[in-house]
Amino acid sequence: VAKKSGRGEVRFFNDAMNAAAKDALVIDGALRSAIAGQEFRLVYQAITSAASGALTKVEALLRWHSASLGNVAPDRFIPVAEDSGMIVEIGTWVLNEACRQLGVWKAGALGELTVSINVSAWQLADPAFVGLVQQALERNSLAPRQLELELTERVLIDNGGEVQSVLAQLRGMGVGISLDDFGTGYSSLSYLTQFHLNTLKIDRAFVMNIEHSERSNNLVHAIIAMGQSLGLQLVAEGVETAGQASILRQLGCHHLQGYHISLPIPADELPAFACRLKSAAAVAEVAEDA
Ligand code: C2E
Ligand code: MG
Ligand code: MG
Ligand code: MG
Repeated sequence: VAKKSGRGEVRFFNDAMNAAAKDALVIDGALRSAIAGQEFRLVYQAITSAASGALTKVEALLRWHSASLGNVAPDRFIPVAEDSGMIVEIGTWVLNEACRQLGVWKAGALGELTVSINVSAWQLADPAFVGLVQQALERNSLAPRQLELELTERVLIDNGGEVQSVLAQLRGMGVGISLDDFGTGYSSLSYLTQFHLNTLKIDRAFVMNIEHSERSNNLVHAIIAMGQSLGLQLVAEGVETAGQASILRQLGCHHLQGYHISLPIPADELPAFACRLKSAAAVAEVAEDA
């Protein structure tokens, strides 16, 4: 159409092909060699017990340093990898790498730890997925409870019935399932009972305002109460201040994650960080007993 109508139309077409689409094309091209080029790595963000401050688990977050584009943030490349289906291959790399790292930690001073990884709809729809999880656990001599899968509400909606049985299988094995970014998606509360979840992650968007907005505070309070009544573990995401941590603790949130506790850090920095958390938790306990 653009060609037939002459130069004006062609320009219109070029303009309309916006920056985002061009960006996606460039990213898509560069992503194709990212695994082979060993351009991915994982960083790990601590999730701590709200009550004791002890490390309960870590979330693995993907980082990409592209040879041609430099560092590219997940929010820019994950959607592109989802559009092309490449996320299945990338997600398998994440699963294997996180489990390999867990195995390394298990053998060292850190001991047994749980890692949660983010999983896309495409991965869950892949008939090979449960087997891949099983293999990754076995290869590294891990207990299934050491692995948790973070799904978003979109994953549940997109796949419906099949996802339910995949999640039932994984839960049956002992793998944890958590619902990420809770409250931002197309929340239907029926998901909470339907999908074999054991953890709810309250999105940063709500946590952000709890100190200053009564509405946010009430909302988080309600989410925590509801989660508790369903027997779910609650993690607050994006905890950036001591004030937020203290409110969340009072509201009965079980676990905290965010820059206030730790940035995502490389694997080799985690043992020292866990040590610091342990001594801080011990000091807090002594102070409480006194
Ligand atoms: P997410 O799973 O909700 O991860 C939390 C994001 O919030 C991470 O961003 C983390 O670095 C950031 N964050 C943590 N604490 C704070 C805080 O206190 N304040 C603020 N402002 N941000 C905080 P990141 O690493 O850029 O990842 C963004 C999203 O990309 C993730 O959101 C997840 O949806 C996706 N993602 C990351 N790694 C993977 C992966 O391996 N597979 C898939 N499918 N998605 C991934
Ligand atoms: Mg997540
Ligand atoms: Mg999240
Ligand atoms: Mg998110």
